[in-house]
Amino acid sequence: MSPANAKLNAFPVFMRIDGEAVAIVGNREEAIAKARLLAQSSAALRIIADEADPDLLAFIAVSGAVHVGAAYEAAHLQGAALVFAASGDKALDRRVAEDARRLGIPVNAVDQPDVCDFFTPALVNRAPVAIAIGTEGAGPVLAQMLRVRIDRMLSPSLGRLAALAASFRAAAEKLPKGNRRRRFWSDFFAGGPAKAIEAGDHAQAHGAALELLSTDAPAAGHIALVGAGPGAEDLLTLRAHRLLMEADAIVYDALVPEAIVAMGRRDAERLPVGKRKGCHSKSQEEINALLIELGQAGKRVVRLKSGDPLVFGRAGEEMAALREAGIAYEVVPGVTAAFAAAADFELPLTLRGVSSSMVFTTGHDLKGNSLPDWAKLAISGATVAVYMGRSVAAEVAGRLIEAGLSPDTAVAVVENASLGNRRRFHGTLADLPSLEERADLAGPVMTIIGDAVAGANFEQSEPLVAHKHEGAASAVAEGVQS
Ligand code: SAH
Repeated sequence: MSPANAKLNAFPVFMRIDGEAVAIVGNREEAIAKARLLAQSSAALRIIADEADPDLLAFIAVSGAVHVGAAYEAAHLQGAALVFAASGDKALDRRVAEDARRLGIPVNAVDQPDVCDFFTPALVNRAPVAIAIGTEGAGPVLAQMLRVRIDRMLSPSLGRLAALAASFRAAAEKLPKGNRRRRFWSDFFAGGPAKAIEAGDHAQAHGAALELLSTDAPAAGHIALVGAGPGAEDLLTLRAHRLLMEADAIVYDALVPEAIVAMGRRDAERLPVGKRKGCHSKSQEEINALLIELGQAGKRVVRLKSGDPLVFGRAGEEMAALREAGIAYEVVPGVTAAFAAAADFELPLTLRGVSSSMVFTTGHDLKGNSLPDWAKLAISGATVAVYMGRSVAAEVAGRLIEAGLSPDTAVAVVENASLGNRRRFHGTLADLPSLEERADLAGPVMTIIGDAVAGANFEQSEPLVAHKHEGAASAVAEGVQS
C-alpha cells in the first residue's frame, strides 16, 4: 500500500463526453492510437489530417469520424471539448497545445507531458463501467500490464449487469437505507441477477432483481469460515477476497495480518478475537457465542483464520456450534502454512522415490510414553510439517530420534512464511532443539522434517546451528535426551 503521504500528480476524473466534439490533430499512428481510444466513447471525433495515411483513412471511414482534410489551423479546434495533439511533430503539437489553451480547451500532446493538461489512461472498458489506469511517469508498459490483469479479473458481462443496475437505481432508492438497501445491491451483484446476466438471460435477470426488491424477509445470517492464507495478501483466494468485500462483520485471529483485514468492506465491523501483544483474547466458547450472535442478527460474517481454516484452526468446534444454532455457514480453503513454508524453500513435500506421504502435526501430542501414529509415518519416510512447534522442538526431535529416525534427517524451518520479513533456517533433526532457545524468532514458525527436505533450496537460509562439525549432530541429540 502507498504511504499515506504519497500524492497523485494527476487526479482521475470522468468527463462527460457524450456527443461532444473531440479534436485529434495528426496523420499517422499517434493519431490513430488516440482515435481508437476515444472511439470507445460516444464523443463525436473530429480528425484534422491533411495527409492522412491509409490506416487513418480506413479508421475514419468505419468510425464515422469527421475528417478535416486541410493543413492544421487553430480554427479547427473551435467548439471541441478536448484536443489531442498527435501529429508526431513536436513543434506542431506544441502549437496545437498553445492554440487549445488559448481557446480554453484542455489538451493532451503525445509524448510531451509538460505541455499536457491531462493524460489518457489505459482503459478497461465494460461500458457503462470504466476502469482507468494511470501510472504518471512509470510508463505505458506498466499501465498495459495492469490493464490486462484487471481485464482478466472482470466478467465480460459486467457492463450488462451495471446497465441493469442503473435501471434499478430509482427503485432501490425506495428501500430503507442501510443494511436492507446494501443487501439488495450485494445480492444483485453476487446473486440471481448477476448469475442470469452471466448466462445471457436478461429477462430472468430482470425478474430476479424484481424479486430481490420485494422480498422483505429479514436477511438470514451467514458465516463463512475463511482461510486467510499464511500472511501475504496476494495468497488470499479470490473467493475469500470477494466474501471479505461483502462482509458485515469480520471476526479474525491474531495471526491474520491487519493488511488482510483491511481488504474487507470499509464499514464492516472488525472484531479481533485472538491474542495480540497485550490484548485480551476470547475463549473458544466466547468466539462460538459471538459467531452465533452475529448470525442471528442477520449479519454476513467472515470468520478469518490464518492459513487454512480446517488445519489447526478449531473450525470443527465453530462449525458444530453453528450447526446446533441452525446458522448457515460455508468453508473457504486457504493456503496452509506448511505449503507456504515449502514454497519459500522450494521444498518438494512429496518426492519421487523418497517421500510419498505427508503429515500435518503439532508436536503437542508427543507428551506421555507412547509415540503417536505420525512418528511411525515419519520413520517410514513421510514429510512432517510441525505447526506450533517452536516450544516443543526439543521434545519432537528427541522423541523422533529415540523412535529410530536418523539424527541426520534434514530439517527446514521458516519464520513468517510468505512474508517479506521471512527467515529460513536449515539443519538436521539433531539441530532442531536449538529452536527453543531462539528468542529472536517472534513470528510464527513452521518446521518441516524429512528426507524430501534435502531437495530444498538452501541458498537463502542460515544454518540452525552455526559451526557444526562432523559428529556434533549425535552429541546434540544425546544432550537433548539426558
Ligand atoms: N490454520 C493455520 C494454522 C494455525 S496454527 C494454517 O493452516 O496455517 C498456528 C501455527 O501455524 C503457527 O504456530 C505456525 O506453526 C504456523 N504458521 C502460521 N502462519 C505461519 C507463517 N506465516 N509462517 C510459518 N508458520 C506459520
